[in-house]
Amino acid sequence: MGLRDRPHPLLGPVSGETRPRSAERAIGSYPARVASESILIVEDDERIGSSLVRALRGSGYVPRWASTGAAALDAAREEPAALVLLDLGLPDMDGLEVCRQLVRAEPSTVVVMLTARDEELDVVVGLDAGAVDYVTKPFKLAELLARIRAQLRRVEASAGERSVAGPIRLDRPARRVWLDEVELPLRAKEFDLLARLVADAGHVVTREDLMADVWDQHWEGSTKTLDFHVAMLRRRLDGDTPRSRITTVRGVGYRLEVP
Ligand code: CA
Repeated sequence: MGLRDRPHPLLGPVSGETRPRSAERAIGSYPARVASESILIVEDDERIGSSLVRALRGSGYVPRWASTGAAALDAAREEPAALVLLDLGLPDMDGLEVCRQLVRAEPSTVVVMLTARDEELDVVVGLDAGAVDYVTKPFKLAELLARIRAQLRRVEASAGERSVAGPIRLDRPARRVWLDEVELPLRAKEFDLLARLVADAGHVVTREDLMADVWDQHWEGSTKTLDFHVAMLRRRLDGDTPRSRITTVRGVGYRLEVP
């Protein structure tokens, strides 16, 4: 191994103990925009880790390398990665547990497991822990890079399912909502209703459309359910704002205001 291949202090392996902690992200804060080229490698084998760093760099990615589970969790907390390459056999923690924690902290995390154990059960359990793909060792770099590209393309495609209306941000696949940086606990129908209003933010959505799209019902005159849910949403969204974020348009429907 040449000197250039050794872990660089700035590159990794990052140590959970020595790296200063940046400001912790509030739990449930909206995921920061993650550069699609940032990849976190979690691998205790120096030879594999350094060759992954080189290969990923050569393909235009920006890799970081953690050699323990604890360092990986710290690194992900400091700066989320678009994709995590995760070795199952780590010195300090079970890779599956690292995977669970990564996904729990950030449900959109894409984890590709690198595993020497290819028994079916391990694979199933691995996917159950939140990993979206796995590659068994020894692997061909070309194959691994193809998997990475495929996963990142998938992420890119689903990015459109996140929408923003002023301070309100929605992650549809995860069914999560943030107002400014604070996550709102919404009930299922409240989420659906808000998602429908956000889709046409700034425009009136008719009561008929809301009933059809959110409740899958034809409007038959009584829309008390709708009014009730709008009232609930207002309570959650409005806080101290002088005017409601949801405007009633008499005889027509509701409009989500965009500042
Ligand atoms: Ca290992």
